[in-house]
Amino acid sequence: NAPLLRVDKLVKHFGIKGGFLGREQARVHAVDGVTFELAAGETLGLVGESGCGKSTTGRCILRLIEPTSGQVWFDGREVTALGKTELRALARDMQIIFQDPYASLNPRMTVGAIIGEALTIHKLTKTRADYEARIVDLLETVGLSADHLRRYPHEFSGGQRQRIGIARALAVSPKLIVCDEAVSALDVSIQAQVINLLEDLQAKFNLTYLFIAHDLSVVEHTSTRVAVMYLGRIVEIASSRELYSRPLHPYTEALLSAVPIPDPTLKRKRIMLQGDVPSPINPPTGCHFHTRCPVKQLPLCASESPELKQSSDGHWVACHLRG
Ligand code: SF4
Ligand code: MG
Repeated sequence: NAPLLRVDKLVKHFGIKGGFLGREQARVHAVDGVTFELAAGETLGLVGESGCGKSTTGRCILRLIEPTSGQVWFDGREVTALGKTELRALARDMQIIFQDPYASLNPRMTVGAIIGEALTIHKLTKTRADYEARIVDLLETVGLSADHLRRYPHEFSGGQRQRIGIARALAVSPKLIVCDEAVSALDVSIQAQVINLLEDLQAKFNLTYLFIAHDLSVVEHTSTRVAVMYLGRIVEIASSRELYSRPLHPYTEALLSAVPIPDPTLKRKRIMLQGDVPSPINPPTGCHFHTRCPVKQLPLCASESPELKQSSDGHWVACHLRG
C-alpha cells in the first residue's frame, strides 16, 4: 500500500541578512534532512522542543513555505513540483490547523463567513441554501450549535475557536490535516475534549493527521506512530507503544522522563539535560545532540552525523551507540 504522504530528505535553510550591504550573515538550519511516511488513516505525532523544525516541516508539506530541497509526495503527486493552480487544488486535500486559532481567524468575519470562505473559493456548494446548510452541518460536526453562525471569533472561548478552525479545515473535505500544536494553548481538560473531537472526526471521515506537539504526553494516546525531532532532524521514529516502552535515543529518553505516569508506583527517573537547545544557526557538528547527550562518545559523536537506521521492525533511531 502506497503511503498517503511521503516526505523525502526535506531541507529548509533560511538566510539571515544584515549589515551594511544586507548580505547573508548566517544560515538557520530549520529542517535538516527529514524523511518519513504517513499511511492513510494514520496519526503521526511529530514531537520536539520549540525551534526543532517541526512547524517548518508542517508548513513545507503544504508549501506554505518553500523547502530549500527535498521532496514531498501526496497521494501519488509530487507536491514540491506543483504550480500555483495545482497547489490551490491540493488545498482541498491538505489542511492545517494552528496553535492559536484566534490569530488565524479573521476578527471581522462572522463564524459563518469564515467557514463559508473555503466553500466559496473551491465552489463546493451550488445554491445559497446549500451553502448555509453546509455551514450549519460543519458547525454541528465540531460540536457547535447553528446559532453561532452570525457571531465573531472574539465571542468564543479558546476551545470553541479551535473547533471553528477545525470546521473551517473540514469544509473542503481534506484527506490530511496538519495539526500544528493545535491543542497546546488550551487547558488540559479542554485539550482532552478537542483531542477527542479530532479522534471522532478521524474515524468518521477517514482523516490522516500529522500531529505536531512539543511534549510527548499530548501525542501518547492519539498517535499511531511518533517521530522525535531535535534541531532539524528526526532522531527516532517508532510506533507509539514501542517508543513509550522502549525508547532508544538518549533525547527521547530525556523527553519521556518528563512525562508524568498516572501510576505512582511506576516512577520514571527524571533525566535533566545540560544546557538549552543550541541555536539552529550553525548547529553542533556531528550528532546535533552531542553537546547535551549524557552518554556521548567523543570524538565520534562530535564528528560523524548518525544516520536514521532501522533497529527493529518499524523502529528507527539516529544514534551511534543505540539501535
Ligand atoms: Fe548521544 Fe552520540 Fe547517540 Fe548523539 S550519536 S545521541 S551524541 S550517543
Ligand atoms: Mg511551532
